[in-house]
Amino acid sequence: MKSKLLIILLIISCGAFAQKRKTENIFIITLDGFRWQELYAGADPALIGKKEYVNDSVALKNSFWAPTPQKRREMLLPFFWSTIAKEGQLYGNREFKNYVNCSNKMWFSYPGYSEILTGGADDERINSNKKIDNPNVTVLEFLNSQPAYKGKVAAFGSWDVFPSIINEKRSGIPVNGGYEKVTGPSLTEREALLNELQDVLPKFWNSVRMDGFTHYYALEYLKKNTPKVIFIGYGETDDFAHGGKYDEYLKSARQTDEFIKGLWLWTQSHPQYKGKTTFIITTDHGRGTVPLDTWRSHGDEVDGADQIWFAVMGPDTPPKGEIKEPAQYYQKQVAKTAASFLGVDFSNDHASGEPVKAMRY
Ligand SMILES: [Zn+2]
Repeated sequence: MKSKLLIILLIISCGAFAQKRKTENIFIITLDGFRWQELYAGADPALIGKKEYVNDSVALKNSFWAPTPQKRREMLLPFFWSTIAKEGQLYGNREFKNYVNCSNKMWFSYPGYSEILTGGADDERINSNKKIDNPNVTVLEFLNSQPAYKGKVAAFGSWDVFPSIINEKRSGIPVNGGYEKVTGPSLTEREALLNELQDVLPKFWNSVRMDGFTHYYALEYLKKNTPKVIFIGYGETDDFAHGGKYDEYLKSARQTDEFIKGLWLWTQSHPQYKGKTTFIITTDHGRGTVPLDTWRSHGDEVDGADQIWFAVMGPDTPPKGEIKEPAQYYQKQVAKTAASFLGVDFSNDHASGEPVKAMRY
């Protein structure tokens, strides 16, 4: 009798626990090669005044300089530090021995995004940025193969390799990447304008477009199609850094913060998303710090290029803000964590990163 009662109580409590989950939509957002150093300390004192990396250091300091790292990071990423730091969580501040690392040994983009989205490193096969169709199944593809999410998954990225990383062909997920236009029978006025502008504006890079296109294409898609799962990959930070333009790198980071704020506010004004949406934000790789010029680059020969960070916010995430406890996390944990917010157990034949438990109640 007692044990029966215990079992009934157990079932009830499990039911209550399961019901508690509020997330119905997941946004996975990335800033290419954006360093934890700037996320946690704002503009770098060693770089902000360097003539070779900055056009107008007086103007740049007006926008991004303050004596304390706390103030500088608020100036650089106002939404991260006013909202995510209060309502969500931020991982990877190495000052507190809170470490997030790539587990792949490549430390550049395709392997990084593949690790984020497939839940594991695959250094044997994923070891270049070539446009090869990912042999591994991403969490996006996994979700899109389930009835509850079929046709409700989409991806937008500034880099033209995302269709390969997400394996658009096999997965059936619409992946808009690089200078790809939006097509279809019922383009909104904004989509048509974005298509036109993308053709006529100067192109800074061959394989990466300006993030404004990625952002507004994604926003139009959200309004029109209300996907439950979306990946948005911003790219400018990495390309400005490679170009040695620290001023543009900072400005782009701040603009991306503003984009993410816009996405968040939009979700909170929409009945499908309000109070039911979790954002997971991260980066594909880090960059160097010492020697000084290695901030521009990354890859396995650059010390520190495997050092990354996570941010998360949503109705199922305890508002712990900046995590200051010593711990070690890996990039490969993002995929299963994202699925776990939806109550889905993501697996493929190589995903090994377990969900970050502290991200959920
Ligand atoms: Zn790069």
